[in-house]
Amino acid sequence: MRSLSRVTVFTGSAPGNDPAYLEAARAVGSVFAQQGTGVVYGGGNVGLMGAVASAAGRAGGEVIGVMPEALVDKEIAHHEITRLEVVPDMHVRKMRMAELADAFVALPGGIGTLEELFEAWTWLQLGIHSKPVALFDVNGFWDPMLALVDRLVETGFVDARFREGLVVATDPHELLETLQAWEPPAAKWTQPADSV
Ligand code: AMP
Repeated sequence: MRSLSRVTVFTGSAPGNDPAYLEAARAVGSVFAQQGTGVVYGGGNVGLMGAVASAAGRAGGEVIGVMPEALVDKEIAHHEITRLEVVPDMHVRKMRMAELADAFVALPGGIGTLEELFEAWTWLQLGIHSKPVALFDVNGFWDPMLALVDRLVETGFVDARFREGLVVATDPHELLETLQAWEPPAAKWTQPADSV
């Protein structure tokens, strides 16, 4: 079983327009705390990201925010978390968020969330890390994206093993159990490339 000391959470800096998103973010934060899994996240006190952090902190969990200096200056940093790491820029931040955690999960969110999710997934594909990448689904939020990913597999742009290795969960306990049991797919370039 994989140990899950911390999980990096990517999610919206907005709350979305359905209260189910906020409820899900709070449930993820509090279950992680109850199960002894720390949260690593963007460090903000806004939207779903702030909700995950506050819920985890209230339940006694470890919460580490990693925030670029420019955003701290805009005073949207969360000041009631275990530790706020201030880094020079977004690139260092992403590396740090990846280093600190044993897995990644994306909850509903916008462009920033998608970018972070796809970067973590790309790094897995390239063998830069071998940590699970997960989607936490709320009311089918991720279905259109999963349909696109299936299309990428059908059209030969993504190897099926990376689609199969993507964890999808709708319950925070199920999420943690699946992440613990996860085995990494072979990285993309470990086998000889097909001749073109
Ligand atoms: P978005 O999905 O576009 O709202 O972006 C959310 C993701 O980008 C989060 O997972 C954060 O890591 C990062 N991010 C966006 N806005 C902020 C913010 N105000 N403070 C900290 N991180 C942010």
